[in-house]
Order: sequence, then structure tokens, then C-alpha cells
Amino acid sequence: MYTESLVKFGKVRSEIRDLFEYGMKRKAEIGEENVYDFSIGNPSVPTPQCVNDAIKELVDTSDSISLHGYTSAQGDAMVRKTMADHLNKKYGAKVSADNIYMTCGAAAALSIVMNACMQPGDECLVIKPYFPEYGVYIERSGAKVVEVDPEDKSLQIDIENVDKAINEKTKAIVINSPNNPSGVVYKKDKVEALCEILKKKEEEYGHPIFIITDEPYRELIYDDIELPYLINYYDNTFSCYSYSKALSMPGERIGYVVVSPKIANYEDAYAAVCGSGRALGYVCAPSLWQKVVAKCVDATADISIYKKNRDLFYNSLTEMGFECVYPDGAFYLFVKAMGEDSRAFSAKCKEHEILVVPADSFGMPGYVRVSYCVETKQIEDALPAFKAVAEEYK
Ligand code: PLP
Repeated sequence: MYTESLVKFGKVRSEIRDLFEYGMKRKAEIGEENVYDFSIGNPSVPTPQCVNDAIKELVDTSDSISLHGYTSAQGDAMVRKTMADHLNKKYGAKVSADNIYMTCGAAAALSIVMNACMQPGDECLVIKPYFPEYGVYIERSGAKVVEVDPEDKSLQIDIENVDKAINEKTKAIVINSPNNPSGVVYKKDKVEALCEILKKKEEEYGHPIFIITDEPYRELIYDDIELPYLINYYDNTFSCYSYSKALSMPGERIGYVVVSPKIANYEDAYAAVCGSGRALGYVCAPSLWQKVVAKCVDATADISIYKKNRDLFYNSLTEMGFECVYPDGAFYLFVKAMGEDSRAFSAKCKEHEILVVPADSFGMPGYVRVSYCVETKQIEDALPAFKAVAEEYK
């Protein structure tokens, strides 16, 4: 009676949400301070002051019709220009307002782009581990998800594996760096090698193979590490950005798509993004929030707390014998499940009131994701419980 594939998406339970819900119940039972909840990626540092200032200024100085009214479907022209100027200043990107489409966060941006460039019969590569929602957007477009193994241990892009996974049906590859759930930032030489391979394959098969970047963690990098801006490396790129994590405001739903000005058949590419936004009902992203982010374009939440958490958590867990992938960015630790079975390991952690997400739904059974966007005290308090878990596996 209803669209079967959508009923399935509506019914399949998210392990992250399940664990989060369990955490709330458990906290009510035994006290918040006794549950070590590392299940969800909700930013824990305050939204920067400039966001509040921008809201106040806009409300005080704008007339309500222009502030709260519809913008163009693709976003306010001045806002899009501000985004483009920012990208040009920060990355030397050479984009203009006409390359930008404002969206309700990265989720809408990805869904728009994937529906714009993929159809039934196409294949889309995703590098493991990957954000489970990609599967939903890709399948909805009619295309098929093709998982690609990363390099062992480092979880960097394995170029040979990408090479082997590409065939004449390959239409796109999703690149998420810094990565959720591993925290890995893909190195410049890997990105360059990836672009080389893709260009070669485009020539071989005679059609574009798009890079779709997913960049909500772009600003969350803790050391002096270069993050290659893909539009500068590869012409056939759609970039999806979001302010959810950078400005600690995931509930406000604001971000954008950039269509590379050098993408194949640019006019049609941008039209397809506009058409996809229209078909999905993702037109005219929230007007107030478009204007707020335009005023805060150079701001980032104070990420020094995430760095402190990362250092404390990574050093403590590795000292206890846990095997962790070193995370250069985002706010997740990717930890090898002791005993290999991630669900059993997560259940064992639960017995010690620790909530960590089995990474099976991220395409990598055998690992768990530990979100460290929490108060540092929660990590300090949880360490004896992690030690007790490690002891049980000795
Ligand atoms: N992509 C990744 C890798 C994410 O982790 C998230 C959210 O957690 C999203 C996309 C969706 O972000 P948004 O809140 O901007 O829709």
C-alpha cells in the first residue's frame, strides 16, 4: 500500500538512536553521572557568541517580511555571495554565488546531490567506515551502494581498492573527511592519487565520475593538518557543507551545496541540483538561519575542548590496551572491539554503564564508535569503567 523501500527506512532502527534512548532511560534510573554516554554526535561546546549577536542584530534591524519571508529557492543571493567569497578567501576556490545552493544541513545537501546525479543502474562508492545515512540517500536515488575497504589500521583511502571497485556503472564516490565515525582526515597524497585514478577511469569509460564531499566536520581538525579542498583538486565535484558541527547548531538545519564551476556540463549540473531540491521539497532553506550564518562565516565553535577530550581519551584507552585509530578530526574515537564482536563488546561496555555504538552499521563490524563531544569530566569518570572492561578481556 505504501512505498516499500520507504517503509523499510522508516522501520529500520538506528543503533545510535536505540542506545541514546536507552541512555536517557538508564540515567533516569541510576542518575546522570553514573551513565557514561558516548553514543551520539551532538556538539557539546557552546554556539559561538557571534550567532547570538547575529540573531539579535537581524531581529532588531531587519523588517520582518524580508527576514522571515521566502528567499529564492536556491538561497538568498547575498548569502550565497558571502559563502562564495569565504570559500575563495579560505581555499582559493574560485567559485561564485551562482555555484551555491543553500540547504537544511548536510543531510539535505547530500540527498539533493545524490538524487541530482544518480539513477537506477548507477553505482556509488563509499569508503568504509561511512555514515549510514549515505545508504538511504543513494538507494533512494535508485543507485547501488558499493563499499570500499580502507587501508588497514590507518583507515586512509586505499587507492588500489578504489581502482578495483570502479566499473562502467560507477557514477560517484563519497568522501567524508574528517570522517564520521573514525575521525580520520584523508591525507593530501591519498586525495591526489584518488583524483588521478578517477580521471583515468572517466577517460576509460567516457563519462564523469563525481566526487561528492560530505564536510560537516571540515572545521574540526586539531593539529596542523592540511585538509585538501576537493573542488581545487577535481573538476567533477559536488561539495556538501553544514554548520551543524562547526557552529554547534545541528538543530537549526543550515548548510549548502557547492557545484564546482568546472564540473561537466555546468549549466545542467546546477539545474539538476535546483531540480532535485525542488523535487524533494528542499527549497528556500530557513531564511533567518541563512542570514545568521552569513554573518558568522568566519566563526567556529571553541573546539579546544574536543582536542583536550581527544588527547585524554586516546592516550588513556591506548594505555589500557585498547586499539584506537588516531583521530585527527571530528569528535569520534574508533576503537577495535575487544573479543572482535562489536555488538558483544558494546553489550559488555553497557554492563559497566558505558554506551558506545557498534560500528556494524558504519560498514565495519569489529569496531565501536565512541563520541567524545561530552564534558571532559564524563571521560575522566568513565576511565575506571573502561579499565574494568579491559580487565574482563584479559
Ligand atoms: N554527514 C555526516 C558524516 C554526519 O556525521 C552528519 C551528522 O551527524 C551529517 C552528514 C548530517 O549533518 P547535518 O546535521 O548537517 O544534516
